[in-house]
Amino acid sequence: MSGWRYWQLGPAPLGQLRSLSQRGFVWPPGRAQVARCADGSWRSGGTAEAEQDHRAPETDCGCGVHASVDLASLQAQALCLRPVPLVIGQVALWGRVITEERADRRGQDHRGQFAYPLHLWVVPETLGGVTEAQAVGALGTYGVAVGVMALEEAVGEVSQTILRHLSMSTTT
Ligand SMILES: [Zn+2]
Repeated sequence: MSGWRYWQLGPAPLGQLRSLSQRGFVWPPGRAQVARCADGSWRSGGTAEAEQDHRAPETDCGCGVHASVDLASLQAQALCLRPVPLVIGQVALWGRVITEERADRRGQDHRGQFAYPLHLWVVPETLGGVTEAQAVGALGTYGVAVGVMALEEAVGEVSQTILRHLSMSTTT
């Protein structure tokens, strides 16, 4: 199974995929994300979390590694994006995967037990001081194909207009 996500491209070190919804949360290269439920959130895999009270994802909970079922479902969330260096990607989801309708987002979401990027695209209009080639090169640590996707294709027309406006007002 696979899904679609956005990340922030971390500046230090350049090329780190950072969660947009959980500030400071990093997807480390070469390691699968393992969903854990701890106050409705999840963490990077490998460490034992004593407070884990059920396996993630669970049907009645919001836990699990989130990904939209398709690009259109992901774009429905793009209105919430902040003007940060943006990466869009397809992720593989495996283990336990729950798929559900997200009425609040006009789309369908997967919540997976394990996840890893399959294909990444940098969004050049959002990169700020970093060049497209630098961003693509830095993402090479994930060991998957990295390409370039135009802002409008990545977030849709409406969000593109808003993000362009937001990034202009933060730089002037
Ligand atoms: Zn949970």
